[in-house]
Amino acid sequence: CFSQISKHNARLNAFIKVQNENVALEKAREADERVNKGVIKGALDGIPITYKDNFCTKELSTTCDFMSPFNATVVDLLQDAGAIMIGKTNMDEFGMGSANMYSAFGPAYNPHTIISDQKEPIDQEPRVAGGSSGGSAASVASGMCFASLGSDTGGSVRLPASYCGVIGFKPSYGQCSRWGLTAYASSLDTVGIITRNVLDAQLIYDIISKYDEKDSSSLSPKLRSINASLASFDKTNTNVTDLSKLRVGIPQEYYVFELSDPIKNLWKRGISLLRSYGATIVSVSCPSTRYALPAYYILAPAEASSNLARYDGVRYGHRSDMDSNQEEELLYVHTRSEGFGEEVKRRILLGTYTLTAGSYNDYFIYAQRIRKMVQSDFDSVFRRPNPLHLVKDETSPFYNRNNDEIFEISNQLRKENNGVDVIMTPVAISTSPKAKDSLSSSFLSNSSSCFSTDNTSIDDNRFVNAYVNDVFTIPANLAGIPAISVPFGISPIDGFPIGLQLMTQYGDEHTLFYISKVLE
Ligand code: GLN
Repeated sequence: CFSQISKHNARLNAFIKVQNENVALEKAREADERVNKGVIKGALDGIPITYKDNFCTKELSTTCDFMSPFNATVVDLLQDAGAIMIGKTNMDEFGMGSANMYSAFGPAYNPHTIISDQKEPIDQEPRVAGGSSGGSAASVASGMCFASLGSDTGGSVRLPASYCGVIGFKPSYGQCSRWGLTAYASSLDTVGIITRNVLDAQLIYDIISKYDEKDSSSLSPKLRSINASLASFDKTNTNVTDLSKLRVGIPQEYYVFELSDPIKNLWKRGISLLRSYGATIVSVSCPSTRYALPAYYILAPAEASSNLARYDGVRYGHRSDMDSNQEEELLYVHTRSEGFGEEVKRRILLGTYTLTAGSYNDYFIYAQRIRKMVQSDFDSVFRRPNPLHLVKDETSPFYNRNNDEIFEISNQLRKENNGVDVIMTPVAISTSPKAKDSLSSSFLSNSSSCFSTDNTSIDDNRFVNAYVNDVFTIPANLAGIPAISVPFGISPIDGFPIGLQLMTQYGDEHTLFYISKVLE
């Protein structure tokens, strides 16, 4: 891994910090000794992994100027299983972005250009690794580590995984602890896993999917056992060549105008593959999908504007060295103006605006309603019931009395629909974009704000257009359901990887992994 890092990292910029090689190698030697004695620490003993730089780690500092005195819970769990951290990876600042172009450390690039074993010559123009966990995906795809933890608030492990040709898995919300993960939009943030194959993702998921009392939204042991008692897709008498009991939903709303031809074709190929193994393919409808993207870009910035209030130069983060005679509120102004990048500022302004008394009802409340509609769409489509709504656990952070009615309706629909086990869609509308076509941070900082009224040459839409890349990944975050990006082919046009996305009912990770192995 270290030799791959020294070979590729200067070009890929996947790492923000690389662990001291001697420290890591010493741990590897200890792991080897344990293996020789047959007393391994856990399933990952000696395995080099990386963490996105928004995970708190004691050994290496964390983006947002924080030397953490503690490890994130998931970091502790992986370390207890023997994993060795070899670095912290590049990301869009605070997880806000889809191309890793909003990083304070410069973009992370797509490794596919330099390591592809394709026979066809591929375009050598630098492509983005995707975001926001771009460094994590690039580090796994280029062999600089075996696995990486990223975070997925609106698609941030699935999108870069699709662009770089690796597995990107987002568990159900609440399954893996967010303690020690820098908050972006807390009701959507999940820990994500990036690996080279499905089995590795499953192995890591089994280690980190634990109740944690330090995370208020961690799924309670009671709900975990209810979930475990529910039937998943029946795999008895079924093997990869016989999926006759499987029902696969194809949501018609994902067939959008922007979808490029190579992706449409691979999606069709995925459908044919599952059908050839006997699966029943069903056209399903998730009508609220079209509102999911705008709803997300109301909710996520609103939560971010509140979460990022802590970076004031007093409690956390960068502190401006302004003249100490100046008034206290100017410390905030300087600190926050200097410390945050353009995209983060844009989101804070947007979020603060939608939470003001005058706009709250017109934006935030509507977006919350759409979120419930997206959840209810999925509930009415899946065969398996949603465990969160089966039991009225009023002590659960997931319980909300007002939602009972809408869930009852979707439950009724679910029974009538003879639901599906899994939904299959593309991950992205295109392959990895060229870096020069993506918004670049230098380009942004040279331009004046998109809110400026005096510069008419600035096309305000270009910021919004960048958000369109998340159109297929966001619904799973709004609904809290598990989703995975599985590499499924190469575009014949540019030679870059394309991933297909699978989604299952809340808590049904087992079905998701099973079908993913069929696709990979
Ligand atoms: N691209 C989305 C955003 O910018 C998602 C980011 C994420 O999942 N962290 O908000």
